[in-house]
Amino acid sequence: MPDPDFKIIALDGGAASGKSSTSRGVAKRLNYLYVNSGAHYRTMTYFMLEAGINHRSDEEIQAALDKLTLSTQVEGNSSIMHINGEACAGEIITSPEINANVSLFAAKRPIRSFLLEFQRAQVEVAREHNFKGIIMEGRDIGTVIFPDANFKFFLSASAGVREERREREGQTDLVVQRDTLDAKRTTAPFVPADHSIRINTDTLDLQEVIDLVTGIILTGRVPGTITTQPFSKDDTPSASES
Ligand code: C5P
Repeated sequence: MPDPDFKIIALDGGAASGKSSTSRGVAKRLNYLYVNSGAHYRTMTYFMLEAGINHRSDEEIQAALDKLTLSTQVEGNSSIMHINGEACAGEIITSPEINANVSLFAAKRPIRSFLLEFQRAQVEVAREHNFKGIIMEGRDIGTVIFPDANFKFFLSASAGVREERREREGQTDLVVQRDTLDAKRTTAPFVPADHSIRINTDTLDLQEVIDLVTGIILTGRVPGTITTQPFSKDDTPSASES
């Protein structure tokens, strides 16, 4: 019997806004499956660069995609995407080269269509493994992948705070530039979903953000200090966060 309390949580936000640590923490707390859709695009980018594919050529991209098979491995609370049976994780997909190229490949329609069904099918993976729900982080989870999610969160932080986070992680990552590219693309642009629960993480530590998100999921109550207004077109992440 499917679990009637099973929940789907969409958590979107800009580069280094705190999405991954928050989603991982919430997944652990609530026994949900954690899915990092940014890692899907990073892994794809790694494979495309290794295969010498030009990001400007839809034909080259499609020919490369035709040779790929995706599968999922569940490790603890995390879902890991494998391409042709191979996982690709850690420093390989957070290298300066991947950081500089991922938004270029992520803007391509054939790549997004290829990943869409895989990402939606993660709900079945979560149910099969008896998780109580799924939390997926990314840029288009509330707008495209799970528009009917039980809760849609949108995390933001000022550019200075986000750059400092990346520096502390020892990463070279032009976070604002990446957000601008992601927000300007025509396919699944990076914008907050309508009525998403907006949390600015500038002055909150990780535990506070995890407590806040977990509390909202468990009680369904959003504190008065948090905004949930509909998306307006002047509201692109690159405009509001730089
Ligand atoms: O989340 P992360 O910063 O690792 O994502 C890397 C890149 O993957 C983003 O800058 C964006 O170009 C792409 N991405 C996307 N849609 C998602 C998740 C990530 O386009 N749902």
